[in-house]
Amino acid sequence: MKVRILSLLSLAVVSCAVAPCARAEWMERTEAIMGTRVYVELWAEDPARGNEALEAVMADMRRIDNLMSHYKPESELSKINAHAYQEPVQVDKELFDLIKLSTYYSQITQGAFDITYASVGYLYDYRRHIHPSEAQIKSALPAVNWHNLLLDETHHTVRFEHAGMRIDLGGIGKGYAVDHGIAILKARGFKHAVVTAGGDTRIIGDHMGRPWLVAIRHPDDPSKVVTRIPLSDSAMSTSGDYERYFDENGVRYHHIIDPHTGHSASKVRSATVIAPTATQTDGMSKTAFVLGPEKALEIINRMPEYDAVFVCPDGRVLYSNGLRPPAERPPGAAAATAASPRVQP
Ligand code: ADP
Ligand code: MG
Repeated sequence: MKVRILSLLSLAVVSCAVAPCARAEWMERTEAIMGTRVYVELWAEDPARGNEALEAVMADMRRIDNLMSHYKPESELSKINAHAYQEPVQVDKELFDLIKLSTYYSQITQGAFDITYASVGYLYDYRRHIHPSEAQIKSALPAVNWHNLLLDETHHTVRFEHAGMRIDLGGIGKGYAVDHGIAILKARGFKHAVVTAGGDTRIIGDHMGRPWLVAIRHPDDPSKVVTRIPLSDSAMSTSGDYERYFDENGVRYHHIIDPHTGHSASKVRSATVIAPTATQTDGMSKTAFVLGPEKALEIINRMPEYDAVFVCPDGRVLYSNGLRPPAERPPGAAAATAASPRVQP
């Protein structure tokens, strides 16, 4: 896992000692869903309601996985990939809306985020150490272009305008599912909770008066932490070249693909994005990874809701303006927002 929640459980114990809180307790559950580790932790005044809420979040994650997985041949997403070049494929409004939102991210990122990356992406198999040849990339690359996704708002249909196109929501689906989990917990009145799916995390409230600390790991050593970000009421996603990969002749082939080249992106080792929702941070972490710090910071420093942290190939760690102390910010740079607490020294 890319981030590690550092639970300050001792704080919970202290707070119970000074305030009457009946059987209130921290509760947590971990499950393997969407090909990753899903983790939910919440502060429950009533353990029975806490358990129901944990189950409701996990059930919703499984529902979203069934809708959007490209591994499941019966999923709606698989139906799009199988038939959308021949005819428009009608899909559930929820899936349609997420595909449409994905094209919005493509638009604001000059195509660095593009769910049609899968038209080349499917040629990689990281477990079996398979990557496409230059000739294969050249022939598949014209199918990578979100402009060729034809979306009909009225009928919720998806059509591919180019042969060989495929889409994959692996770059935004987990963040979307995390936001759903958070909405379920909020609707049930939970005031302190965290939901994580793979590298995507969103937090409600704080951890008994203090921010949660979410760690960004060292790219080559999962037991080492590069930096910790204090977070409350916001989301954070990390994309790294160490999640699904193999090395061959000094080249790292990994799961974040530059849609303009069809190759694994290599400007950074990891890119972390902080913003109010996990759908935002998930989409933008691929963007930040593909574009690299220079271009991505140009975009992110203009968007007051967003912040970013990059771990560069030479080990440097770069921060967006909102995470830097005022004295280190360039003149005229925006102050940190509620979603961008300063990095702990
Ligand atoms: P995780 O899957 O653990 O959440 P990331 O958030 O970094 O990890 O997402 C990586 C996934 O994003 C890849 O496995 C792939 O499905 C998808 N992806 C890769 N490159 C792109 C891209 N340029 N645009 C959109 N999605 C991408
Ligand atoms: Mg993700």
